[in-house]
Amino acid sequence: MTEYEPAAVIPLPALGGADERDWRELALCAQVDPELWFPASGQPNRKAKLVCSWCDAQADCLAFALRANEQYGVWGGLSPEERRRLRRRQREAASVAVEVEGEAA
Ligand code: SF4
Repeated sequence: MTEYEPAAVIPLPALGGADERDWRELALCAQVDPELWFPASGQPNRKAKLVCSWCDAQADCLAFALRANEQYGVWGGLSPEERRRLRRRQREAASVAVEVEGEAA
């Protein structure tokens, strides 16, 4: 079995590269109270998610958070739990892709 390769599922920008600087320049959260993105445990994050849904950097922001394994706050419109579920689905999809590839070979 091939080792899990997350980049095979979603292409991720390099950390600290030019792509990272580009998407951060588009970040709408830089123009709003940043505490909305880091609510206390059990507090709603609806406002942050709404702003994320309007943000041109959403896809790159989410890719960054997944690559950096951000554990706190809303990134790319997803909460930490939603990102954990997404990573789990990515691992499952990568695993199935490897199986299908092995069967086709
Ligand atoms: S998607 Fe959300 S957290 Fe990411 S840069 Fe945009 S507003 Fe900020």
